[in-house]
Amino acid sequence: MEHLRSLVLNSTYEPLQFTSARRALILFLLGKAEALEFDGFHFRTCSTSYRLPTVIKLRRFINRPYKASVSFSKKNVLRRDGHTCQYCGATGVKMTIDHVIPRSRQGESTWENVVAACRECNLKKGNRPLSMAGMRLLRQPRKPKNLLFTMTPANTPDSHVQSWAKYLTSLR
Ligand SMILES: [Zn+2]
Repeated sequence: MEHLRSLVLNSTYEPLQFTSARRALILFLLGKAEALEFDGFHFRTCSTSYRLPTVIKLRRFINRPYKASVSFSKKNVLRRDGHTCQYCGATGVKMTIDHVIPRSRQGESTWENVVAACRECNLKKGNRPLSMAGMRLLRQPRKPKNLLFTMTPANTPDSHVQSWAKYLTSLR
């Protein structure tokens, strides 16, 4: 379990950081945090077995004054959009990025103008603006507020990532 990480939320449900699963369990056992999600992993001692929380929420509010800015990159756009095509909602297919206002029409490479798109939608839209292509965005692209979603720890089980997803969505 040494490599396992848990997501720590502020008392307001704002994601704060990842911590070791062991520390998350200790915070929970000490009553400093509520355990919100589990996914079947256990920590065993000689006499007892504890379910490892994958998400904990602190009971006391932590004031965090500094937030780093998220760098713009293809990888981070795909992460922000959850590897989901922002036109048709497709997931689990090869994803590209698409300029909502095409570059040929002076569309910029910014968080607000670039979205994840499947190849089919990318081809269908081509160099046309949305209205001419008869397509719509699932949601308005914005700059993510928080770096955390780009920092999924290495060697994380899929079940952990799934249990984090709904808490990290607000960061996109
Ligand atoms: Zn698509």
